[in-house]
Amino acid sequence: MRKKIVAGNWKMNTTYFEGEALAKDIAGKHKEVPAGVQLIVAPPFTHLCCLTGPLREAGIGIAAQNCANHESGAYTGEVSAAMLASIGVQYCIIGHSERREYYGETDAMLLEKVKLALQHNVIPIFCIGERLNEREAEQHFEVVNQQLQKAICQLPATDFAKIILAYEPVWAIGTGKTATAEQAQEMHAYIRKVLREKFGAAADSTSILYGGSCKPSNAAELFGQPDVDGGLIGGASLNGGDFIAIAKAMITGKG
Ligand code: PEP
Repeated sequence: MRKKIVAGNWKMNTTYFEGEALAKDIAGKHKEVPAGVQLIVAPPFTHLCCLTGPLREAGIGIAAQNCANHESGAYTGEVSAAMLASIGVQYCIIGHSERREYYGETDAMLLEKVKLALQHNVIPIFCIGERLNEREAEQHFEVVNQQLQKAICQLPATDFAKIILAYEPVWAIGTGKTATAEQAQEMHAYIRKVLREKFGAAADSTSILYGGSCKPSNAAELFGQPDVDGGLIGGASLNGGDFIAIAKAMITGKG
C-alpha cells in the first residue's frame, strides 16, 4: 500500500504571523482529514522553527521548501539539511521547477541535496516535470526520464525507498491550467515504469504526487487515478479550507 500524501507548498507567501494563523487553521481542521492521508505543510524557512512543534503535535508533517547542496560552511544565505533536521523538519521539497528555473539548480546539485537530506533523515519530496514547449514537442517523457536518471536513479535502493516524488508539469504550476486526469495518470505510470526498471518492485511502494493548479474542484478526479498517490499543492494550500478539502478528496477520489 502506498502512502497517500497531500503536501502544501506555501512558497514565499505569508509573514510569520499570517503563517502561524494559517497553520492553526489547518491544524484545527485536520481532524476532518480521513485517517490514512498524511498532510504535510512547507512554510518558508523563517516559520519552520516555531511551527514544527505545533504541526507535529497535530499529526501534520512539516517540510522545508529547499536545502543547501553542501553540508556546512561559507555558503551565505543557505540552510543545510542538518539545520532542518535539528529543529525537527521531516521533509524537504527538492528540485521544484521554480528552483530549477529561477536559481539555476542543476540535476547534479539536486542529487547532492537529496543525498544530504537523506543523510540527515529528512525525506526529499523530489519534483520533476516538463515545460510547455517540451510537451508541445512531445518530449515530455524523455525530459522526465532524464530528470529521474540524473538524480533519483543514482541513489542506492535503500535510499530510493525513502523518497517521495512529485510530478509537476511546469505549464500547470500557478497557471490555472491543470493536467487532465488522463495526462497525469499517463505520466505517473511512465514514472513508475522508469523506476521499476531501475529499482524493481520497490517502485510500487513510492508515492508519486501530482502538482499543478490542483484545487478542491479537480482533486478527486486527479487522485482517483491509480498511479496518483496525492498532491503537491501551491496556491490552494494558502487557504486552510481549500487545502483540507483537497486532502478529503484523496479518499473520495480513491473511493
Ligand atoms: C507548486 O508550485 O508546487 C504548485 C503545484 O503550485 P500551484 O498549485 O499553485 O499550481
